[in-house]
Amino acid sequence: MHKPLRIAALAAACAVVSAALYGAGAATAGQSTANSTHEPYNIGLLVKDIDTYYGTALDANGVYQASPTSPYAKDLASLDKAARKYLDQAARKAVKKGEKPAVVFDIDDTLLLSLDYEKKTNYTYNSTTWADYVAQANRPAVFGSPELVQYAKSKGVTVFYNSGLKESQRVSAVENLKKVGADVNLDAAHMFLKDAVNPPSYLSACATPGTWTCTTVQYKAGTRKHIEDDLGYEIIANFGDQYSDLEGGYADKKYKLPNPTYFVS
Ligand SMILES: [Mg+2]
Repeated sequence: MHKPLRIAALAAACAVVSAALYGAGAATAGQSTANSTHEPYNIGLLVKDIDTYYGTALDANGVYQASPTSPYAKDLASLDKAARKYLDQAARKAVKKGEKPAVVFDIDDTLLLSLDYEKKTNYTYNSTTWADYVAQANRPAVFGSPELVQYAKSKGVTVFYNSGLKESQRVSAVENLKKVGADVNLDAAHMFLKDAVNPPSYLSACATPGTWTCTTVQYKAGTRKHIEDDLGYEIIANFGDQYSDLEGGYADKKYKLPNPTYFVS
């Protein structure tokens, strides 16, 4: 997902999300541009705000960690609580209707937290350092998300992953997800990653072998369409930290997880 279109939080200071926008299930159209006509939020204060929000602290290994008692953790906990209640009910309803209920999870900063990378790179994306970071397969969990994956499974809901990570990063992604306890359906039939070399035929409108022009929304919504229309599932909920994870339909409910550290259009 971390692609050229990604805008670092610092470069898009005015795109700082308001608390209201990441309330449980309250995903909206979201921001798509950062066009301030007034003086943007002060960058030094914004960094402090972000640190306060995550309760960012260096651990004994020199890794920046979010605090489990931070406002970030609290926002996630309330989202998780609402999502569990909804999943329980929606799964029952779907089964009654003869549907196969499914949930879709983004990976970066929906299941695996990249705060250490963001902080150490001053919130500025670089494809080489990002690839190195992902390859370490040592990111901590986004609080509560692996448990939510397990909860969905326990309710008979099929878990899918829909990520902008590259096909070449599959082994690292699987290893890291196992480490944090999201050990559900980590096979290629359930984990969709970006394969620009050999894109699937259902993305043929924007991707042919070697030529990838899909936007994030085209890729992610196109993948959800495939899960529903070709694989026959009903996506009862879609979880992502970017609005581009959630736009484009093919999900009954959208859950926007908080992430003020970068923006992916
Ligand atoms: Mg993400």
